[in-house]
Amino acid sequence: MTATVTEPTGARARQTYYWRVRNARTRHRPETAAQAWHIQPGHPGGAYSDLGHELDPPAHHTPTLLSRSQPTGRRGEKQEFRAGCLACGWEGPVHSGDGFGNGDNEAVEDAHDHCFPRWRTLPPITTVEDRWAVPRSRSRWAQLTAQYPADWIDQGAPIVAWRRYRREAHVPPYAGRPRYELHVARPPRDRVPSPADQGALF
Ligand SMILES: [Zn+2]
Repeated sequence: MTATVTEPTGARARQTYYWRVRNARTRHRPETAAQAWHIQPGHPGGAYSDLGHELDPPAHHTPTLLSRSQPTGRRGEKQEFRAGCLACGWEGPVHSGDGFGNGDNEAVEDAHDHCFPRWRTLPPITTVEDRWAVPRSRSRWAQLTAQYPADWIDQGAPIVAWRRYRREAHVPPYAGRPRYELHVARPPRDRVPSPADQGALF
């Protein structure tokens, strides 16, 4: 498939093109559709996402994840990932990996660098229990999000949480939580504020 010549760019256009290939509307064989860049299923704008599929682009930059499979030799194939945006045609560099936090994580982070440039400085959630507990507590959610730039929460800025293990996959948004949960490395212990310092922050 010589799709690189004819494929459009930008997440929304690529997703439309992918379905045109799958639905046999192009000269390419439908079974080769996975070789065309498309939104990773479950991510915003992609198949199985329950965030909704608006025909109009969002008013602000909105992160999503593109993927494709590339044949390698006779039988093999490899997965490739890159960042996309549902509001504009921007795309990130290509990352290879198996897709379980490997390749896909890097691309999702690129997408957030595009949409929420200072996301790496957002206050992290530090325990696994709090990933659930903080969004369910009105006061703790208000305390966390007060440290976000204005409008970021409404625009789907991510929750940042310390990862449990290397390459813990980032979690895409869904209907009940319209933002990514990004898993980042816990900083070295000497850079973690002591409980006393933490208390002083609030
Ligand atoms: Zn954008």
